[in-house]
Amino acid sequence: MNILVSGAGIAGLACALELGTRGHDVTVVESARQLRLTGTPIDIRGDAIEALDRMGLLAKIQRQRVRMSEFTQFVDSAGEPVGRIPMAEISDSDDDIELLREDLVRILADALPDPTAIRFGDSIETLTDGVDGVDVRFASDRTGRYDLVLGADGQHSAVRGLVFGPEEDYTKHLGVYFALADLPGEAHSAAANSIYNVPGRMAGIFRYNGKAVANFQFRSEPIDYDHHDLDAQKQILIDAFAGYRSWRIPELLDAARADPGFFFTSASQIHLPRWHRGRVVLVGDAGYCPAYLSGRGTSLALIGARFLAEELERCGNDHTAAFARYETRQRPYVTFAQNRVDGGRDRVVPATWAAIAARNESLPTPGPGVC
Ligand SMILES: Cc1cc2nc3c(=O)[nH]c(=O)nc-3n(C[C@H](O)[C@H](O)[C@H](O)COP(=O)(O)OP(=O)(O)OC[C@H]3O[C@@H](n4cnc5c(N)ncnc54)[C@H](O)[C@@H]3O)c2cc1C
Repeated sequence: MNILVSGAGIAGLACALELGTRGHDVTVVESARQLRLTGTPIDIRGDAIEALDRMGLLAKIQRQRVRMSEFTQFVDSAGEPVGRIPMAEISDSDDDIELLREDLVRILADALPDPTAIRFGDSIETLTDGVDGVDVRFASDRTGRYDLVLGADGQHSAVRGLVFGPEEDYTKHLGVYFALADLPGEAHSAAANSIYNVPGRMAGIFRYNGKAVANFQFRSEPIDYDHHDLDAQKQILIDAFAGYRSWRIPELLDAARADPGFFFTSASQIHLPRWHRGRVVLVGDAGYCPAYLSGRGTSLALIGARFLAEELERCGNDHTAAFARYETRQRPYVTFAQNRVDGGRDRVVPATWAAIAARNESLPTPGPGVC
């Protein structure tokens, strides 16, 4: 089949790989000008490890494995460690693989079979789903007809908006926002990763493989903002930390101001009763974002891509049956992941000074090698 995938993130690249290697003719359209490589390390868990194994990528993934969390400490305003991340509560098992998001993106993209095309700097503008195919008009004014269209364009999916309606109808906000900024000045420091809290907010520095990022989280009611307006997103972050100058908060906010690759998102889940309509189907965060607090978005994307490709193979050209079977297999994983977000917010972003102190009391004692 001639298949269009919207989004070259983990879900989109995994779908392109799974479908391309099964002989489909796949085009990926990505709104960014290149692959988006920002991100802290992500976890690959459970059946997602098997999915990567079946793609033939597990050995490569294992080689890029990091163990960031073990070296992460909570610190006080003087930078003194107050406790370690309780790893046993975070990992499902020792088999979980933690690796940089950018490494996973690169490994998937490098594995794409010829002639998979990734068309950067473009996106789907309109979709007309007909009996024989989906007619697509792109922002670039190009047009095309596809047998299937996959929405793998993330939490704020344009495909979902076109086919299923406005995001607010399907979003469950978990009360926290998350931001990342590149921190070039810290890249070669040997200090441990640090997380510092003030009430309802955290700022952290994570270092890995010669890179460093500033990580922010803050509690907030839903904020209405333009997902394409980076300056507006930076201002929301700066406003959220207004009045806080302890630890290294001001210099981390300066890094956010300066970073063209700044990343901002909410801890929100997407709940849809169905992930397909006609010849259009959603995969990954677009259909069932579990929120970063679950630590399972990437695993869901990899498992979903595999189930979808397997069911299309099993059902031949009957995409309706394949989509239904994909949903049946994927739904339990999504429900499990979306139910696993409790506690993360209170541990990482306690709401009050008293809650910060209580959290610190409960942490394992700091280890050596702290900043
Ligand atoms: C830059 C970036 C950094 C991230 N950092 C973290 C992190 O630090 N921690 C964490 O837990 N999760 C992070 N995530 C989210 C995490 O990657 C996903 O939750 C998970 O991997 C599922 O991936 P996905 O492919 O469904 O969505 P995503 O990884 O969000 O990928 C969606 C892709 O679709 C593209 N896209 C969006 N809109 C359109 C459009 N209209 N047309 C075409 N393309 C479009 C995006 O540019 C992106 O490449 C990050 C995502 C991105 C994009």
